[in-house]
Amino acid sequence: VDVFQSPDYFRLDELLTQEHLLVRDAVRTYVKKEISPIIEDCAQKAEFPQKIVAQLGELGCFGPTIPEEYGGGGLDYISYGLMMQELERGDSGVRSTASVQGSLVMYPIYEYGSEEQRRKYLPRLASGEWLGCFGLTEPNHGSDPGGMLTNIKDAGDHYILNGSKMWISNAPFAQVAVVWAKDEEGIIRGLIVERGMEGFSTPTTHGKWSLRASATGELVFDNVRVPKENLLPNVQGLKGPLGCLTKARYGIAWGVVGAAMDCYDTALRYSMQRVQFGRPIAGFQLQQKKLAEMLTEITKAQLLNWRLGVLMNENKATPAQVSMAKRNGCEIAANIAREARQVLGGMGITGEYPIMRHMMNIESVLTYEGTHDVHLLITGMDITGLNAFK
Ligand code: FAD
Repeated sequence: VDVFQSPDYFRLDELLTQEHLLVRDAVRTYVKKEISPIIEDCAQKAEFPQKIVAQLGELGCFGPTIPEEYGGGGLDYISYGLMMQELERGDSGVRSTASVQGSLVMYPIYEYGSEEQRRKYLPRLASGEWLGCFGLTEPNHGSDPGGMLTNIKDAGDHYILNGSKMWISNAPFAQVAVVWAKDEEGIIRGLIVERGMEGFSTPTTHGKWSLRASATGELVFDNVRVPKENLLPNVQGLKGPLGCLTKARYGIAWGVVGAAMDCYDTALRYSMQRVQFGRPIAGFQLQQKKLAEMLTEITKAQLLNWRLGVLMNENKATPAQVSMAKRNGCEIAANIAREARQVLGGMGITGEYPIMRHMMNIESVLTYEGTHDVHLLITGMDITGLNAFK
């Protein structure tokens, strides 16, 4: 068969509802029709396929867990996870666009915003009319965002915002930015900054070898006047951005397994067809070891994600559990991509197959939203009660 086969070795589909299956199939069909045919070319040319923003909105991939009255999908966390899995099977950059929009822009406006902010921004972000970005990381503060220098000063009916953010997904095309900055007392606050505000610019980051089909940029604030009604009123401190990151990391845990599935499926099909020494390479023990281990790791990660989704639905998941799943997903996906690349031999390095693109993408996914190291230290701290990273 020459189409993607979703590995389901432990019959996880039996744990999914009719709604979950419908959501997954809708996104899978979309990826096959609209993403797979264009994505390699976009990645090769380092172009963000802007048309996907409206498409993802229409499909319901932006803010699937946000209530319907604000334009969200009103779906559960398993549906959200499955959506991210299918999008990342297409490309991690496409999934990143959806993760940022839903979990890092819509979620904070929904959770920390005023009713006016919710009504103004959420429906337009849900439909894809507006694209959003999330500004936390700075040139000198990545893993340690609490040290941020971006700041606001009270100036009557508005704030004056100064500073800069780096590595911001969607920035070059975003109409709206959720920006984290310190107030005059040094307390981290969230603000909604709009394109067009004087002194706000979003220079593009060039030369990436990873997430090439996703646009990344800086956010530069030079005495930007931000109206006071754009402050997110209901959160203060690092727990604001961290709360958003937990939601996004949950989606990443599912997403990277989608990329791993695509690599596994590609390697399996290739190895059945590729003949060397007079027989398919899939018949050689060394190739079978690779395939068997890939499927074992995918199956373990699927079970972990499913269980985490149930805990998320019951509001019982801890941020440390999400860290473990994000880290595990990235680890297995990175290893599977490398193994799958080898199964394809020389063909594995070409754009004829998706593996090298996934492999390079996963390098960013390992690093963003908390690095691989930092998530391990979060698990370590959760186990021991001792903080090894501060
Ligand atoms: P650093 O923090 O400098 O880390 C460098 C190395 O040191 C890492 O290996 C790290 O694990 C290690 N390290 C750091 N601290 C410790 C410690 N205490 N103990 C042990 N090791 C440590 N950010 C946003 O705000 N919004 C976005 O939309 C966004 N999109 C991104 C898109 C891409 C393509 C990329 C690459 C990044 C994006 N980021 C975004 C930024 C990302 O979250 C940061 O790159 C990440 O948090 C790491 O920060 P850093 O790059 O400054 O690395």
